[in-house]
Amino acid sequence: MNCFTYKNVTYTCKKCNWSGMGNELAFGDFSERFSIVDMECPKCFEFIGSWVPPTIEEVKEWKKNNNNEPTEWDNRL
Ligand SMILES: [Zn+2]
Repeated sequence: MNCFTYKNVTYTCKKCNWSGMGNELAFGDFSERFSIVDMECPKCFEFIGSWVPPTIEEVKEWKKNNNNEPTEWDNRL
């Protein structure tokens, strides 16, 4: 999963066949140690994917390559 785009991507759960946008997914475990966010199916909590919060440099780089579009990470800059 890409932390900048996962919310606008459609995912399908291979367990219960749920299908929907990334912003409908449920948050699973968050590992403080590795800073990885797991996303789960909102219906059966099957693991769908995970993403890593971007560094400030990655946010800058992404905005540069995407017409400076606002991201939810802007407040970290
Ligand atoms: Zn499911």
